[in-house]
Amino acid sequence: MLSTSAPGDIRSALPPSPPDESEPFESVLEDLDAVLQRGLTHWQSPRFFGYFATTASEPAILAELLVATLNQVGILWRASPALQELEEVTVSWLRQILGLPEGWHGQLEEAASLSSTIALAAARATRPGQRVVVCSEHAHSSIDKACRLLDLEVRRLPADERFALRPELIDLEGACAAVGTIGTTSCASIDPIEALAEACERAGVWLHIDAAYAGAAAALPELRTLFAGWERADSIVVNPHKWLLVSQGCSVLWTRRPDELRRAFSLVPEYLRVTEDVVSYSEYSQVLGRRFRALTLWTVLRCHGVNGIRDVLREHVRLAGQFERWVDAEPGWEVVAPRHFSLVCFRLEASDEVNQELMDRVNRSGEMFLSHTRLDDQFVLRLAIGNARTTETDVRQAWEVLRREASAIRANG
Ligand code: PLP
Repeated sequence: MLSTSAPGDIRSALPPSPPDESEPFESVLEDLDAVLQRGLTHWQSPRFFGYFATTASEPAILAELLVATLNQVGILWRASPALQELEEVTVSWLRQILGLPEGWHGQLEEAASLSSTIALAAARATRPGQRVVVCSEHAHSSIDKACRLLDLEVRRLPADERFALRPELIDLEGACAAVGTIGTTSCASIDPIEALAEACERAGVWLHIDAAYAGAAAALPELRTLFAGWERADSIVVNPHKWLLVSQGCSVLWTRRPDELRRAFSLVPEYLRVTEDVVSYSEYSQVLGRRFRALTLWTVLRCHGVNGIRDVLREHVRLAGQFERWVDAEPGWEVVAPRHFSLVCFRLEASDEVNQELMDRVNRSGEMFLSHTRLDDQFVLRLAIGNARTTETDVRQAWEVLRREASAIRANG
């Protein structure tokens, strides 16, 4: 599950220089088994519960083969009208699935980190001289990184006991943007989006919503209330490569202010000038040549269908609720954060060292993988359900492994 290789193992097992003569493809496959395999952490396993679990679903895998085969390089509309226009259609489909307003511009990027950087670059250009970005202490580190690159200053506000930004502390003095998170990385908490929208509208500050993980859940009508107010944002990021069955490398950035993105990013050199009256995605992004990501997202949406995707998401939320109830009912264990989606934060009622030991033992067992965070200055275990192949049997087994290893620790000490 978790790779068993030690640092440098893989590197030292590989030739330091390339072959002069061609090798058969079988040799590559042999080395995949003989060398690389032990350095793989199995993100595709149904018992991968670390970070935010993901799925490269079968349609995504096949579509990626087509993406590489067709090798479209989307530098401008005429370089691949299919890429440009399929992307427009596909992000509009996903916008509808998530219940976002008509007319928003959407684009696909490699990762949420880049989507947020692009949104904050546009926000910065709207308020020259205002260099602060306001967010909660639980906002993702990609916001800090974006601000570092854009020479902006981050103002992190303390969160409440539910790990959400406190509305009464919102201070937009000197700000060009505020970032609200729906589904924070540590514990999937939700910032008060309506209050943020209110304050941003009053102050004329750009509101960016980071829903990289949890945004997928807006496809479920019964969870839509958790997203109240996000339609008032200036930009939103959601990652299909997290919880929407798409392989790594697919993040959607929507904005209702595309002209601001274009103002920040459009730079068309002579050799890319054309006579057609078209706009190309390269004018809205830092990247010139884009991959045919839309083909993968489009394939996934078609082959699963909206109802198929909803079934997967709903089952993950149900399984997380089941696991949460088991932990809650077990003496000596505690759930430590409110659960909204498919992530459960929990711990043994014991020291940080014991919880760390528990996680290490569980991960060493190879039967499952989970990761940790710190909340209220305590070491906390995270069980993130997000792989489409995860069943109730997997989650039950994970709970058995956790209880077994906790008993072993108690017996030893
Ligand atoms: N935002 C949130 C809330 C996240 O949880 C993550 C990653 O887990 C990111 C942003 C960064 O995503 P990416 O790896 O696509 O840059």
